[in-house]
Amino acid sequence: MSLEKLLENVKIYNTNEQELEMIEKAFYYAKKFHKGQKRQSGEDYIIHPLSTAIILAEIEADTNTIIAGLLHDILEDTNVKKDEIAYEFNPYVAMLVDGVTKIGKIVFSCKEEEIAGNTRKLLNGITEDIRIFLIKLADRLHNMRTLEFKTPDKQKENALETIRIFVPIAYYLGCYRIKSELEDLSFRYINPEIYFELSNKLSKIEEDTKEDLHIMLKDIQTLLNDNNIPNEIKSRTKNVYGIYKRIQEGNKLNEIHDLLALKVMVDDVKNCYFSLGLVHSLYPPVTGRMKDYIFQSKTNMYKSLHTTVFGRNEYLVQTQIRTFKMDKVASLGLTAYWQDPDVIMNDELRNRFQFFKSLLDINRSTSDNKSFLEEIKQEILGTNIYVYTPKGKIIELPVDSTPIDFAYKIDPDIGNNMVAAIINGNYATLDTRLQNKDIIKIITAEMTFGPNKEWLEQCQTVLAKKKIREFYDRIK
Ligand code: MN
Repeated sequence: MSLEKLLENVKIYNTNEQELEMIEKAFYYAKKFHKGQKRQSGEDYIIHPLSTAIILAEIEADTNTIIAGLLHDILEDTNVKKDEIAYEFNPYVAMLVDGVTKIGKIVFSCKEEEIAGNTRKLLNGITEDIRIFLIKLADRLHNMRTLEFKTPDKQKENALETIRIFVPIAYYLGCYRIKSELEDLSFRYINPEIYFELSNKLSKIEEDTKEDLHIMLKDIQTLLNDNNIPNEIKSRTKNVYGIYKRIQEGNKLNEIHDLLALKVMVDDVKNCYFSLGLVHSLYPPVTGRMKDYIFQSKTNMYKSLHTTVFGRNEYLVQTQIRTFKMDKVASLGLTAYWQDPDVIMNDELRNRFQFFKSLLDINRSTSDNKSFLEEIKQEILGTNIYVYTPKGKIIELPVDSTPIDFAYKIDPDIGNNMVAAIINGNYATLDTRLQNKDIIKIITAEMTFGPNKEWLEQCQTVLAKKKIREFYDRIK
């Protein structure tokens, strides 16, 4: 763990001399102020912010984020003030460090109203910059990697908080690599017996299937090369926690269709579909396991074709086919888009910000602290359903949402002018609970009296409630 390692990682995607110098300066700045402080492992404290910055460099974060990663514990643990960081570096870095310090103080697991009030005050000060959450994730990942130095009580507490709060955040941000690692690190402390039992089984499976997977990989590669498709193929096994969840759902280990996977990366979208056909010509697909996340990408912007095939020796192998660029998004999450001016703030990206915006909406629209905390929990921990517009666009909503939530999520004007809803071709009342895969068409009229006040009781999302209240505030 050294400054050199950090700079090496950054140089892979950023060679701007000035920015590299700034990163170096931030390292020595943090080192100076943390001087004399130790971690529970006995190491110098600076190892922690440095490791956080290295994790951020691995997901190709921008320079201000890396610098903020190096400085993220400065406000909490030393006498340095926000203004001084702004002066030494820049206001963005100062804002990021301040934001990380504030969410660090949020206690999600407590129930008392007093603490809820505190949480609320803190959240109020957080801007909508998503990078704050990225730094917090990197910080948490390093803390989880070094959890062995904490007491057993602390280990359990941190592990539970990680799996309840930080894993969903990593999912929403599309950082799959961080998500899987956080899941396994937490699971190890939450349920050590099952964790070690499963991970031993997994190692054995990896050993047994290594040869077969390698032959498959080479066969597919040869066929793609023969067809002049530029490609790269990697194999992976599912993470321990992912396997555990499938077993909980009633699957047997050998029935998990994505326990083993091949990731096929090609140059463009057309070749994704072409390669799918080629893969099927070598290995027969399992019926009903084809998913086209390119045509209909997940809310967190994941795009890929998935097909499960009967591999060698009848092992099921999930084959994921995507472009190099889609793969970058899948492993890096949102950060993959930072350097891409074409994509910045298109509709998809705006949707993705929605989750974090809605936390702030909750804060503005709920009056008492208890319901505030309840709603936050629902927003972060609640499960979601996926429904469609008539044109096939996927909309993600919380469980128990109604056509009212759907309409407001699409566009507040559509919500305000809605007169009826058609679900899967049939007229439905506006309080109908939507189900996964429903196709919903909203009927609007130009002359309406606006939303009905009863709707407030019939919708789920903070967004819909907020927009309905706003309508009434306006006409008061
Ligand atoms: Mn920290």
